[in-house]
Amino acid sequence: MKREDLQTKRYSVIGAARSGLAVARLLAGAGARVFVSESTSRPAAEAELHRLQIPCEFGGHTARLLETDILVLSPGVPSSAPPVRDALARGIRVVSELEAASWFCPGPIIAITGTNGKTTTTTLAGRMFGDARRPAVVGGNIGTAFSDVVDTMTADHTAVLEVSSFQLDHVDAFHPKVAVLLNITPDHLDRYEHSMDLYIRSKCRVFARQGAGDMLIYNADDEITSTAVKQYAPAGVTLLPFSAHVTLSSGAWVADGVMTTAIGGTRTAVIPVQEISIRGTHNLYNAMAATLAAQAAGINVASLRATMKNFKGVEHRLEHVRVLDGVTYVNDSKATNVDSVWYALQSFDAPLVVLIGGRDKGNDYSRLNDLVKKHCRAVIAIGESAEKVVAAFSSIVPVVQAATMPEAVQQARGAAQNGDVVLLSPACASFDWFDNYEHRGKVFKEIVHALRGGAA
Ligand code: ADP
Repeated sequence: MKREDLQTKRYSVIGAARSGLAVARLLAGAGARVFVSESTSRPAAEAELHRLQIPCEFGGHTARLLETDILVLSPGVPSSAPPVRDALARGIRVVSELEAASWFCPGPIIAITGTNGKTTTTTLAGRMFGDARRPAVVGGNIGTAFSDVVDTMTADHTAVLEVSSFQLDHVDAFHPKVAVLLNITPDHLDRYEHSMDLYIRSKCRVFARQGAGDMLIYNADDEITSTAVKQYAPAGVTLLPFSAHVTLSSGAWVADGVMTTAIGGTRTAVIPVQEISIRGTHNLYNAMAATLAAQAAGINVASLRATMKNFKGVEHRLEHVRVLDGVTYVNDSKATNVDSVWYALQSFDAPLVVLIGGRDKGNDYSRLNDLVKKHCRAVIAIGESAEKVVAAFSSIVPVVQAATMPEAVQQARGAAQNGDVVLLSPACASFDWFDNYEHRGKVFKEIVHALRGGAA
């Protein structure tokens, strides 16, 4: 997008929550003609738009919304929303808030995407910048929208962004200096006409504009990801693969138990894997990806090492809750798909009692069979899909069905032996019993904290 386009084109922003307002402010501030449309009533937002003299409508979308050259989607508005479909059908250009915010970004962007691990990796990378006292903003799909923070940046700032495939569906000029592709596994296929290829291509848009001087960090152990990179990576981009299993000549790998990196011929022994606080192979991947991104920005290895020793992970992702009567309780409520659970089950040496179930997204649990057999003492089936979970695992381990979360925790406690881990890692969405995965994790933690020691 060129500056003059901002003055000649008309923009409609759909959605007037915080990030919709922020992107409208950015566009209007650059001299663009902006209209904002919001389906609900939001008096405070309306008052602010009036104050900024930005035309707007609240309580529903009228035809005025599509009297525009470019439709900007707030992060929460899906491509399937009727006005967006209409706009696309009429050939109106549709861009995500991420794309629009990137037009105003004065510094380099690190864009982190993948099916799983985005929040952990983005938070860790942000922490690496913070600990090294390097100016950075952290946002995108986590915490604050990019539009909300981009105008606080100078050319010295790096934008560390968690990027969803949702937002990538509508980017064009978005051009990260460093792109990170963590993995691609089937999860949101319902949004991509059940086509894995469409989902892969959406993820690959993160690096579509990259070229010489840019870096693409990706998981070489994930076949779908590495095949996609080989197929779609632009010419000239520096490829930095990472692997937990094989030795590489550039990127990141493990040599004699030490995370080792090589960028542009410089090889560094970064940190013994045992010293990384977040556990499991998946978190080693996340740590490698964040390290490569931070090293590419010139952050020194002593600082990176300190960050990785101290970083305890993000709430609801394999989060340690407490130890009671020799049993460790872990909250992995964010594990809303089978792939996350696949990694979670491999992250502990101790026998597991796992709480699985919730709103099922068409899960195929058979992928977990070998791991359940190897690592689990019992499964507690919860939520709407409890019967499916019982059917999936009862020929492998003892499975009991629970009607509520307190009952599930009691049953898990009863099944666990000294030294075991009770793990909430549901493989499902939470909307059957809870508002969202955070709510599910909080309820689990409250119940666990309320348990009294002694007899179960
Ligand atoms: P996202 O933001 O992509 O949803 P999170 O960091 O919030 O990712 O983690 C979501 C879930 O996936 C958690 O259960 C976590 O333990 C698991 N997970 C984290 N990193 C990875 C990874 N690299 N591969 C697979 N699963 C992962």
